Amino acid sequence: MQILEKAPAKINLSLDVLHKRPDGFHEVEMVMTTVDLADRVELTLLQGDKITVESESRFVPNDERNLAYRAAKLIKDRFGVKQGVKIFIEKNIPVAAGLAGGSSDAAAVLRGVNRMWELNLSLDELAELGAEIGSDVSFCVFGGTALATGRGEKIQAIPAPPPCWVVLSKPTIGVSTQSVYQRLDVEDAEHPDTKAMVEALKEGDYEGICANVGNTLEGVTLAMHEEVGQIKEQMKQAGADAVLMSGSGPTVFSLVEQDARAQRIYNSLKGFCTEVYMVRMLGYKETP
Ligand code: ATP
Repeated sequence: MQILEKAPAKINLSLDVLHKRPDGFHEVEMVMTTVDLADRVELTLLQGDKITVESESRFVPNDERNLAYRAAKLIKDRFGVKQGVKIFIEKNIPVAAGLAGGSSDAAAVLRGVNRMWELNLSLDELAELGAEIGSDVSFCVFGGTALATGRGEKIQAIPAPPPCWVVLSKPTIGVSTQSVYQRLDVEDAEHPDTKAMVEALKEGDYEGICANVGNTLEGVTLAMHEEVGQIKEQMKQAGADAVLMSGSGPTVFSLVEQDARAQRIYNSLKGFCTEVYMVRMLGYKETP
């Protein structure tokens, strides 16, 4: 038996960090949405007890450190499942990029083994389990567009943005989310207007969405890696409607309505960066 799951990347239309909590996590408000750049997760039922994981990316571990492996193991242990699973990940999302690639793979495995091992868990239950793996996994279980609060695990669905192009560009550096949070001074940082972003999405107001993109972590990553600022500048000059760093970076994305302009931004970045993608905004739920 084989099951295929699509694991799309997410971008943060806005990301606000409110404060550090006593448990060490940061309290956040994030507006997240999926884009049409996805890993392909292939699950094969094993009659033995084993979980195996494999991807062709040299940046991703093929062992129990893989978030996809951890997702399968968590469910197997929690529900005393006697069967195993072979996980193959076709890795298309850049790694350590601010696009939640690992979290989306883990979420795809949660959805997939739920079907494969016939556990009948709801998406809410899977999202709750996902939070034990990482703060972005809960959102990735649902996909679509959502406001994530708490440490990122409390998910409220909101309407998808109007269709547009998303041009993504990742400099060759990888950024560790932990190091960015460690350097963040919450008082000093810029804070986006989350309410205005949610309102713009509810109204389907593309200009309002573009006017309210903002990321509290952007300044920290910008100060560490000047490439991020250079990409932002280049995208703005090439005519993007909005430009922002996603998550803790270093990927920068632009939102663009016009086809020709999106192509121009893509072309102008292609000579500057090796990892550039021009994809459609997904935004709606693709998962059952
Ligand atoms: P986020 O936006 O949620 O902070 P990210 O895009 O910055 O995530 P990931 O691509 O998820 O980061 O990878 C972060 C780290 O997790 C990498 O160092 C990688 O080695 C490890 N990792 C474990 N499993 C996976 C996986 N399935 N795919 C990608 N990275 C993985």
